[in-house]
Amino acid sequence: MTILDDARAVIAEGPVCDACVGRAFAERSFGLSNAERGRALRVTVALDADESVDEFELDGECWVCEGECARFETWAERCIGALSEVDLATYQVGTRVPPLIEANDRLLRESAGFPEDAGESFKSELNREVGKRVGERTGTAVDFERPDVLCLLNLEREDVDVQINPAFVYGRYRKLERGLPQTEWPCRVCGGSGKQLAVAADGEDGDGEDDGSTDGGANDGTERSAAEEPCEHCGGSGYLYEASVEELTVPPVVEAMDGAAGVFHGAGREDVDARMLGTGRPFVIEVKEPRRRAIDTEELEAEIEDFAGGRVAVEGLGRATHEMVERVKELDASKTYRMTVEFAEPVVEEALADALAALDGATIAQRTPGRVDHRRADRVRTREVYRADGELDDPRHATIEVDGAGGLYVKELVSGDADRTAPSLAGQLGVDATVTALDVLAVEGEEPFADPAYLHGT
Ligand SMILES: [Zn+2]
Ligand SMILES: [Zn+2]
Repeated sequence: MTILDDARAVIAEGPVCDACVGRAFAERSFGLSNAERGRALRVTVALDADESVDEFELDGECWVCEGECARFETWAERCIGALSEVDLATYQVGTRVPPLIEANDRLLRESAGFPEDAGESFKSELNREVGKRVGERTGTAVDFERPDVLCLLNLEREDVDVQINPAFVYGRYRKLERGLPQTEWPCRVCGGSGKQLAVAADGEDGDGEDDGSTDGGANDGTERSAAEEPCEHCGGSGYLYEASVEELTVPPVVEAMDGAAGVFHGAGREDVDARMLGTGRPFVIEVKEPRRRAIDTEELEAEIEDFAGGRVAVEGLGRATHEMVERVKELDASKTYRMTVEFAEPVVEEALADALAALDGATIAQRTPGRVDHRRADRVRTREVYRADGELDDPRHATIEVDGAGGLYVKELVSGDADRTAPSLAGQLGVDATVTALDVLAVEGEEPFADPAYLHGT
């Protein structure tokens, strides 16, 4: 069988459009659209038979694609319409192909005596032809891995679903105030609902104690049944803290990108009562369904600062790839801490210097501290102290700085945690010692977090 015999066999199954004919021969030659291939074969068959090409023309609607191959333009227009309000640099087109068309493609090949999967599939041609047009009109590039948007052609519904993939903003934050958790902290008593069951039914009008708290979040739109009252533990807000780094930084970013929602990912987290100062802590804010992607980083930094009311500041903002989320979460990072330490008895400068010298460069063995999540297994692990120095403020107080490996429990390094951490400052001094104030001054990755490979130009 020559290609002409094959072409005759396919055309004889008619009415089949040029694209559907050509698609069955998609692996032959290159630089041609399937429609060009089909047209060329049709003409060649006519030449070979020495008959008018009219004899071999499409007569009526193509039964294989049901006319869809004549509608690439229409589908491209629909995509562009659906994307009109969306900012994108990369796209991908996908199609939900009705089972009937898929079956027709197989039937054509079977009837012509071809393998079932000869040439190209209808779906692949439609995605490519529509995608090519979308790219040309919008000046954007196709990306099969992680496009900014995915246009899903729904042939049965005659419409296009646009899926907008998240955008990511990297930066470093400083937390300038104590008592602020990094992320929302739902109340563990009521599970964030802000409600508890009423204890006793003495008087059903139990709502009088409403304190006018303005925290709406968890309660909005839910009806309070007569048997519920505000949770005592959290005062009915559902949260133990009225704000968090997340809540003070995410909304301006979501707004700048005109997104639907945002998620905060931090490179570890400091204790609620610790400040994060110095060079700040790396984070990524993931914006869901952003309709804008370009950001003015300086403007956004100022907006966040304004929104956070001086409690949190951010710097070094830049658009990041999705891999940056994993990077901030997984990259090993050392930390620099500054602590105010209180001693149970007076300490002299020389003793403090000796104790710190013993910790400087030491490997510390720590059992899981009692204050840490009880569900975490109690085990001994070791962490390095890279540097420890400091000086007395007065005989009962000192200011100490420690550089330590990620995961070092630094409050326990000072207190000794009832001998669960050794060596410790208290152990070296033979005097009880407690951290009364903690600041994190730096979070440094084993390699820089802000690797350009993980950042986009803005
Ligand atoms: Zn067709
Ligand atoms: Zn509660």
